[in-house]
Amino acid sequence: MTARRRRWLSVGTLAAAAFLATQLAGAPAAQAEPQVAAARILYYNASGAAEFRAAVDQGAANWNASVTNVQLRPVPAGGRANITVTADNNWPRAQVTSLGNGRIWMGRQAVQQGHYPPRIAAHEFGHILGLPDRRTGLCTDLMSGSSAPASCRNDRPNAAEAREVNALFAGSLAARTVSATFTWESR
Ligand SMILES: [Zn+2]
Repeated sequence: MTARRRRWLSVGTLAAAAFLATQLAGAPAAQAEPQVAAARILYYNASGAAEFRAAVDQGAANWNASVTNVQLRPVPAGGRANITVTADNNWPRAQVTSLGNGRIWMGRQAVQQGHYPPRIAAHEFGHILGLPDRRTGLCTDLMSGSSAPASCRNDRPNAAEAREVNALFAGSLAARTVSATFTWESR
């Protein structure tokens, strides 16, 4: 009798604990919101990127997973895009009008030579996010671009590259304006 009652009690206690846990689990999500809001949101329009749309989304997702101070998102219908991505038959390139703003061309010429489209997309986003070309030849460097072998499949910024972008997007952007055009292959 006593044992049965105790069992019922403990079941009741467990149910109460589970309810409490559910309540507690909901709390951190609400608290995490200000952190997300702190990131600068850059919208990109890849509607003109033809067969490279998935690669462009992948390049953006890889940056989003690597940095906290800036996030790349597809532009909502009717919204203004910071970054326009199109496709053509030349070399891939990025025209940066200011930090976080500009234009990307997903050039088929590099793809035809075997370069990996998600790596190209992530690399060109890297320019928009303030990074220059660094032709180190290393596949581990996203910004080594075409100086790494065409077989390189690394489409993510390394820790140093991510740190640099986080620093560029920390605090005020006014003093960090860059304007340049970068081409995948310099000839
Ligand atoms: Zn480049």
